[in-house]
Amino acid sequence: MSHPAVLVMIYGAARGSSLGGRPAFRIVAEPGKRLRVTDLAATRGDGVFETVGVFDGRPANLGPHLERLARSAAMIDLPDLDLGVLEQAFDTAVTAHLPVPELLVKIVVSRGIEGSGTPSAWIHAQTAPSYAAERAGLKVVALDRGISTTAPQTSPWLLAGAKTLSYATNMAALREAQRRGAQEVLFVSSDGFALEGPTSTLLVRRGEQFSTTPASAGVLPGTSLASVASHLRGSGREVVEELLTPAQVAEADGAWLLSSVRLACPITHLDDQELPVDRALSEELSQAISGRAAR
Ligand code: PLP
Repeated sequence: MSHPAVLVMIYGAARGSSLGGRPAFRIVAEPGKRLRVTDLAATRGDGVFETVGVFDGRPANLGPHLERLARSAAMIDLPDLDLGVLEQAFDTAVTAHLPVPELLVKIVVSRGIEGSGTPSAWIHAQTAPSYAAERAGLKVVALDRGISTTAPQTSPWLLAGAKTLSYATNMAALREAQRRGAQEVLFVSSDGFALEGPTSTLLVRRGEQFSTTPASAGVLPGTSLASVASHLRGSGREVVEELLTPAQVAEADGAWLLSSVRLACPITHLDDQELPVDRALSEELSQAISGRAAR
């Protein structure tokens, strides 16, 4: 059965009517409401977003996603978000779309229509495509991001670690990976450290220790990583934040790209080097992200 995507638009009220500095968001339910061509999301990519996975009807990590959305919004100086209204709109979009086993839901907040001074937002729910191939394994190429691990301190205007709508460079990197015969990218800092994927967090296993890139190096703090780290620590395994070189990742006992809808995808190759793949562990990590393990 095919389900139409569900769109719920939310508009901020005029600045004058904001409550305590927070725009009074309201859900605009009329059919036919559409994104305006003068919305700064469309003309400048000036906004922030989240992609949330809903598994068997249950959103995974909605709270952490909303918190990160608020953090990204603050990093681009948007007014404080009304997370209650966003959550209500999220429920509306998801309920209208169920039942499907895996749903991909985007929450977008933009600076709004040019000149209006008030943000707009929308929730878009769609059936997730099959990620079976990616969950079985990914060929990954290391690509220089051209930004140092010190950028968050020296150049905060680069917005390293914010989930903004300006993802054209991330998508260009994925096309470069395809040109090189791979499916995914591991970004490397200009000072030579493995960072993250264009839409995913790096997790590496060396012996009995798991490691990931410190958020202070300018990567997005992953909600999937937080779930995986708490699952691993809960079962007595050690998880640390450390900077690794791509050569160290290529020689590891296992590595994954983690994200909210695609879940834990093992890296089978980094450039020309093959990595070991532990299918049972990959499945365990995926279940920790989707929340299915706990049910
Ligand atoms: N890093 C980047 C740049 C991302 O865009 C994403 C998600 O899209 C992630 C990491 C993984 O974040 P999460 O696990 O919260 O989906």
